[in-house]
Amino acid sequence: MTEGHVTIIGAGIVGVSCALHLLKDGWRVSLIDEHPAGTQTSYGNAGAISPQSINPMSGSGIIKQIPKWLLDPLGPLAIRWSYLPKAMPWFMQFIRDGAATRVASQSEALAALHRNVIEGHEELAELANVKHLIKRQGWLSLYETDAAFKADAAARARMQSHGHEIHELNPDEISQLEPGLAPIFKHATWAPNSGHTVNPGALTEAYAKQASRMGCEFVNCKVLGFEIGPEGPTKIRTSAGEFKLDRLVIAAGAWSSQLSKQLGEPFPLESERGYHMMLPSPGFTTRRPVSFNERKFMTTTMEEGLRLAGTVEFAGLEAPPNWGRAIKLLEHAKTVFRDVDVSDAKRWMGQRPATPDSLPVISSSKVHEKVFYAFGHGHLGLTGSAVTGAHIASLVSRRNATIDLQPFRIDRYR
Ligand SMILES: Cc1cc2nc3c(=O)[nH]c(=O)nc-3n(C[C@H](O)[C@H](O)[C@H](O)COP(=O)(O)OP(=O)(O)OC[C@H]3O[C@@H](n4cnc5c(N)ncnc54)[C@H](O)[C@@H]3O)c2cc1C
Repeated sequence: MTEGHVTIIGAGIVGVSCALHLLKDGWRVSLIDEHPAGTQTSYGNAGAISPQSINPMSGSGIIKQIPKWLLDPLGPLAIRWSYLPKAMPWFMQFIRDGAATRVASQSEALAALHRNVIEGHEELAELANVKHLIKRQGWLSLYETDAAFKADAAARARMQSHGHEIHELNPDEISQLEPGLAPIFKHATWAPNSGHTVNPGALTEAYAKQASRMGCEFVNCKVLGFEIGPEGPTKIRTSAGEFKLDRLVIAAGAWSSQLSKQLGEPFPLESERGYHMMLPSPGFTTRRPVSFNERKFMTTTMEEGLRLAGTVEFAGLEAPPNWGRAIKLLEHAKTVFRDVDVSDAKRWMGQRPATPDSLPVISSSKVHEKVFYAFGHGHLGLTGSAVTGAHIASLVSRRNATIDLQPFRIDRYR
């Protein structure tokens, strides 16, 4: 591997988006992943590509709910007791980042990052010949209680203040938009300009195949570490042997901080584990992603059926899944829809790469001249991936970024 070459670790939606933008810039690119492209977290998400998602998690009233989480392993948000001591420093930072002034600047940064996320995916999907996988059909966000709707007033106002069209709907308007819903919702917000994909796994795979057509080399192995000389990392150690390094991009999702730490740049990253259930024949379709605020899950009609996806669980990267959490999604579906067939549901768990301030890391290394980071997109990694790829290509190619990337820097907690 010589001058003009970039190695990317991680072939999720973030890594393959970086690959496409770097290839477009003329770099030779190798993508290393221990799994086939797009088979980890990027496979099973809810498919929303939502420019209006600009509110950090810490600002959404979640902090008040922490004591409740500890008591219910099947609740919308759960922490395994045994994992709590390990997650505590992250939680402390999460709480600090929930201060009103910080929430305002985090929203500002997310609003800038997410401004053209649908266009970003449309561009890559066109290149990969899968434009049919991207839809612009809006997002419906539902509330069963006045209290939950009221609690989100500030978040709605922030979205509107950044120019996003957000309409408040009454129960009649809700059932006109999605007739399959049970009549249990008191309020909704409707974001007509939101987008989604009808197959996140196929989208990631298509981007990877396009990268391959453009000359990207795929290397199937696990990255174990680096050989670091005075000029930075010179070799990468993997389960398949050693490779020489020129430029390096870490896009390894929830596993990224294990690698950044080895490069001398630790970062507080947690896995917010989420689950999905795929219903092959639910008996109806919805037209757009629908989110259920109190229950912390979403549904999206996809190519292969209705996906019920969401919930948050802190248990680390290694703990086995708690499939009771996925089964709970079926119970929710039976409550929120009038009549849903949940037979033959397929279950899945994924690891959201979560930062305390809900901002991803899109950054040059502050230690090594030729190292770059693209990770930590949390709940919004599909949304932010295509534009992240463009920003990483600007950083590697030493072009001015089109937005201020300071809020996304790797050393913001040091
Ligand atoms: C239930 C659920 C619903 C979601 N819904 C949405 C949504 O609607 N909209 C949205 O925008 N986002 C959503 N997300 C979030 C989104 O899926 C993630 O943010 C995104 O997939 C992260 O992509 P990634 O490429 O960073 O990580 P991944 O897809 O996890 O890819 C990381 C890759 O790195 C590889 N890797 C890691 N370490 C190594 C190593 N040492 N050696 C080799 N390879 C390595 C892994 O094998 C993996 O393939 C959801 C997530 C979940 C769990």
